[in-house]
Amino acid sequence: MNDLANPLLDFSGLPRFDAIRPAHVMPAVDALLADARAAVERVATDPQPATWNRVVEPIADALDRLDRAWSAVSHLNAVVNSPELREAYNASQPKLVAFYTDMAQDLRLYAKYRALRDAPAFAALEPAQRTLIDNELRDFKLGGAELPDADKARLKSLNEELADLSTKFEENTLDSIDAWAHYVDDAQGLAGVPADVLAAAQAAAEAEGKPGWKLTLQMPCYLPVMQYAQDRGLRRRLHEAYATHASELGANPAWDNGPVIERILVLRREEAVLLGYRNFAEVSLVPKMARTPAEVTAFLRDLASRARPFAKRDYADLLAFAREQLGLPDLAPWDLAFASERLKADRYSFSEQEVRQYFPEDQVLAGLFRVTETLYGVRIREASAPTWHPSVRFFDIVDGSGTLVGQFYFDLYARENKRSGAWMDDAINRRRSGASFQHPVAYLTCNLSAPAGGKPATFTHDEVLTIFHEFGHGLHQLLTRVDTAGVSGIQGVEWDAVELPSQFMENFCWEWDVLAHMTRQVDTGLPLPRELFDKMLAAKNFQSGLGTVRQLEAGLFDMLLHADFDPVARTPWASPRDLLEAVQKEVAVVPRAPYDRLLLSFGHIFAGGYAAGYYSYKWAEVLSADAYSLFEETGVLSPSAGARFRDEVLSRGGSRPAMESFVAFRGRPPQLDAFLRHNGMTVSS
Ligand SMILES: [Zn+2]
Repeated sequence: MNDLANPLLDFSGLPRFDAIRPAHVMPAVDALLADARAAVERVATDPQPATWNRVVEPIADALDRLDRAWSAVSHLNAVVNSPELREAYNASQPKLVAFYTDMAQDLRLYAKYRALRDAPAFAALEPAQRTLIDNELRDFKLGGAELPDADKARLKSLNEELADLSTKFEENTLDSIDAWAHYVDDAQGLAGVPADVLAAAQAAAEAEGKPGWKLTLQMPCYLPVMQYAQDRGLRRRLHEAYATHASELGANPAWDNGPVIERILVLRREEAVLLGYRNFAEVSLVPKMARTPAEVTAFLRDLASRARPFAKRDYADLLAFAREQLGLPDLAPWDLAFASERLKADRYSFSEQEVRQYFPEDQVLAGLFRVTETLYGVRIREASAPTWHPSVRFFDIVDGSGTLVGQFYFDLYARENKRSGAWMDDAINRRRSGASFQHPVAYLTCNLSAPAGGKPATFTHDEVLTIFHEFGHGLHQLLTRVDTAGVSGIQGVEWDAVELPSQFMENFCWEWDVLAHMTRQVDTGLPLPRELFDKMLAAKNFQSGLGTVRQLEAGLFDMLLHADFDPVARTPWASPRDLLEAVQKEVAVVPRAPYDRLLLSFGHIFAGGYAAGYYSYKWAEVLSADAYSLFEETGVLSPSAGARFRDEVLSRGGSRPAMESFVAFRGRPPQLDAFLRHNGMTVSS
C-alpha cells in the first residue's frame, strides 16, 4: 500500500474519516513508527553539536505525524468501536508503547537534550522552547534513561503490560455495560420514567424486533430510571446490574476487572521502585502542581472536614423526607437518586425534565458560542469535514480578522459501541516549524440523549454543564498561541491544572444573562422563565455537601491506593476494597450496598490518566472558582477579564508552570474562599 492509498498517511489536512478502515491501521502505524525510529536514529548519531533545529525539530516532525494518525485511530476505537478496529488497535498499541519506551530510555538522545540544556544558546531560546527541553529531560529520567540496561528492559515490559491492562479494563467495562439489557413489556412497570426516555427505550426494543421497552445501563437510560421510576424493584434491578458490572458478581466472569486492578497496582509499584521512588503516587506527582502525596491528602482531608457537616445535613434531610413523604423507612442505595429527585422537586418544585425542555441542542450551542465569542473575541462557524458518524458536527473558530484559529468536532450523543463519559481529545496540535504552520483541532465527545420522536435533542442542565466543561478543555487546546509542539494547547499542562479551564466554563451555566439567551422551550419557543431560573439557582447547591464528599472520597482512595497501599505485602490494608472501606469510614456519609463494586469501573485511575491524580478535580476547582471570582468582580461577560484569561491562562498551555499562569491572571496565589462560597459551604449561608 503506498502512502496515498492509506488515508492515515495523508497529513495534508483533517483526518479522512470517510476513508479510514481498520485495514489501514497496522500498515500506517508500522510505516510511521519506522519513520520515527529512523528520525531518532539520525538525531542520536548526528556528529554535529546539538541545536534546536538538529535535535528537537526532526523528532517533533516524526512524532507529530505519528500522533496525528494514532489520535484518529484511538478516537475511532473509542467512538465507533468494532471487532476489526479493536483488533487492529490492540495489535498496534504495544508497538507504540515499545517505541516511546525505547525513545524515553535512549541515552544518546538524552545526551543530546542535556547538551541543548547546557549550551550557551539555551538562554536565547523562547521560554516555551526552554520549557519543552526541561520537560524532555524530566521525562527521560521518568522513562528510565538513567537506569542500568536490565532495569530498562524491565521497565519497558512493565509499560507494555500496563498499556494492555488499561485496554482490557476499558473493554471489560464497555462490554459489560453493552451486554446488559432489561426488557419491559408492561407500561405500568415504567411509571414515572420520562416520556423521551421511554421513546428511546421503545425504539431500542423495536430495532431488535421486540415489543415493549429495552432498558440499558447507558447513562441516558440508567440515570433517569434511577431518578424517576416508581417501581422500587425495577430500580433495584438496574442498580444491582450497574454496581456489579465488570466485577466478579457481574453477568460474565471474563469481564471481572478485579484481577486487572490487582495486576495494575503491582506493576505500578514495581515501576516506581525501579525509578527510585517509594511508590507510584510520588512518580505521578513529579510533573504535577502538587508536590507530595502528603500535601494532596492534607488538602483533601482539609476539604473533607469542611464539607462533611454539610454532607451529614444533606443526608439527614433526605432520610427524614423519605421516611415522612415517600414511606421509605430505610433508604436503600437504589432509592437515593429517586428520593433526591423527589426532595428536590418538593423543595424547589421543578424537575430536571421540566428544565430540560428549555435546552434544545441548537439553542445551547448558540449560547455556548455567544459566551466564547464575547469573552475571547473570536467567531465560531459551522463548517463541514469528513466524520465517523452522521450525527457529528464540525466547526471553525476564527479571530477578529477572519483568520482560522482552530477547528473542532462535536460528537454529542450516546450510542452503542461508543465509550461512555465525556472528554476532549486533541486531533492536531498547534505547531510552527520553519515555514509550515498547523492550527489545532479537537474532538469534543459526550454521551447525551440523541433526538427522539422527531424532536430536537434536549439536554438536562447537568448535560449542558458537561458540554461547557468539555468545551473549556477544547478552548485550552484551540486558543493556544504557543507554536512549540509538546507545550502548545493542553500538551505539557500539569494534570492537576488541566481541569481549570473546563470547570471555569461551567460557571457560565449559572448566569441569568447567559441562560436568558441560551434557552427556548421546545414547544412554545419561550425562553427560560426567571422564576424557574431562581429555583434552579436555589437548588444549585442541593446536596453539594454529599457530592463534594463523594469526590473527596474517590480522591483520597486513589491517593492512598497509590501512595500507602503495598500491593505485594498487602499492607496496611489487605486489599483495595479494604482501603476503600477505611476511606468511606473516614469521609463518606452514605452507606453503600454490600454488592457495590463500582471501584472496578473507576476508569479514571485504572484506564485513564488520573492514577494518583483524581484529586485534580477538586484541586483545579479551587483554582477555577477563584479565577471565576474575578469575573464576578468585573462582570461575568467582561471582554477585558476574558482577554486576560485568554492571554495568561488559555493561550499559554504548557509553556510555563500553571501556578505562574494563575498568579499572572489573578494577581495573587489561589485562595479557597470562592470555592467554598460557590458550593454554599460558608457558615453564614
Ligand atoms: Zn474535564
